[in-house]
Amino acid sequence: MIIVHKYGGSSVATTDKIIEIAKYLGEVKDQGHDVIVVVSAMGKRTDALISLAKEITKDPDKRELDRLMSTGEQTTIALLAIALKSLGYDAISLTGVQAGIKTSGFHTKNVIDSVDNNKINDLLKEGKIVIVAGFQGVNSRGDVTTLGRGGSDTSAVALAAALDARCEIYTDVDGIYSIDPRVYKEAKKLPLISYDEMMELAYLGAGVMEPRAVELGKKYGVEIYVGKSLGEKNGTIICAEEKCMEKKLITGISINENTAMVNIENIPTYAKNVYIVFNSAEKNGVNIDMISQNDVTASHGSMAFTCPKTDETALERTITEIKEALPDIKPEINKDVVKISLVGIGMISNIGIASRVFKILAENSISFHQVSTSEISISLIINGEDKEKVAVLLSKEFEI
Ligand code: ADP
Ligand code: ASP
Ligand code: MG
Repeated sequence: MIIVHKYGGSSVATTDKIIEIAKYLGEVKDQGHDVIVVVSAMGKRTDALISLAKEITKDPDKRELDRLMSTGEQTTIALLAIALKSLGYDAISLTGVQAGIKTSGFHTKNVIDSVDNNKINDLLKEGKIVIVAGFQGVNSRGDVTTLGRGGSDTSAVALAAALDARCEIYTDVDGIYSIDPRVYKEAKKLPLISYDEMMELAYLGAGVMEPRAVELGKKYGVEIYVGKSLGEKNGTIICAEEKCMEKKLITGISINENTAMVNIENIPTYAKNVYIVFNSAEKNGVNIDMISQNDVTASHGSMAFTCPKTDETALERTITEIKEALPDIKPEINKDVVKISLVGIGMISNIGIASRVFKILAENSISFHQVSTSEISISLIINGEDKEKVAVLLSKEFEI
């Protein structure tokens, strides 16, 4: 059996941790499995690399930023290969390019198009433990690319799909909880979660899994095990809905702190002006999430939208551009907000969830800025300072 293991940043933060992982991988190999290991950059190394570039300029060139960020994972693969070899195991480290991971899209936000599994298959046949740098690939121009933050999960699932392998993701929590256990200590660990619910939680901000990894898992039928301790098997399996026996109304809550809200007041109410705003946002690469508009009948109206806080530079360019086109508008960026979302397949067939959410907010005098819904989720934009209170209240109300 081929097994893909993936170790995130905190799991490989020190050389001691890398040695522990090497010992464990050796045991798995000795049990007769073929082993592929995907690793992230050590600890917060990716953040440190981005900060270095930002010491030079606020808006670093994205092709070169990809080159820079990809070095984080390359350090880890080499160290893990050194550790395995020092223990007497035959191991080889591969960059994303060497592992045949082909990507397309924009630098820093690439998607995996295909994985050429020939080389890895040959190396496995030679009995080697294959160590692959996560988060990176190569585009059609031969440039190094990265897959968006948290993208090593995606590398692991893509490799598991390409090699028909089992996929095990090891991180600093022992499974997927109904809500981030750092925010709500009484959160429950889920033995199983459906692809759709995990995808929705991840897209809405639950940082434990990269959403595109879950999407790939669903597309190629790769079950994803998420856990912590080496050797223990009490984590969470992300799998098809039919396997998830316990049908709860709400499966989980995600909290997305990477949220900024832009209020624009005093816009003359013509559709053309709304187009100016969103066209400029799109050109500058601002990823718009929620949109709301007020007073559409008045001569001037106001609107608001949310986007990732990390799109800040692009957002500032957008604001400058739209102020030039519409000099009388009053835009304001609010970075002190979070998005909190309830997710559950049970929402499809049950009504009254929204009213329970608003009752809780009303009873506790909590204000919100925006609301949006999908078939299986409700999201609210609230003030950052209310984050924990709302998370606990909603967790208790829906017994998650
Ligand atoms: P890695 O570096 O291993 O990829 P991440 O930091 O990306 O790890 O993801 C693990 C973190 O995700 C945990 O430390 C936890 O705080 C956070 N997290 C957010 N939501 C959840 C959730 N629903 N269940 C478990 N962990 C969660
Ligand atoms: N090192 C990358 C990041 O920090 C990719 C990953 O950890 O998955 O985003
Ligand atoms: Mg991660």
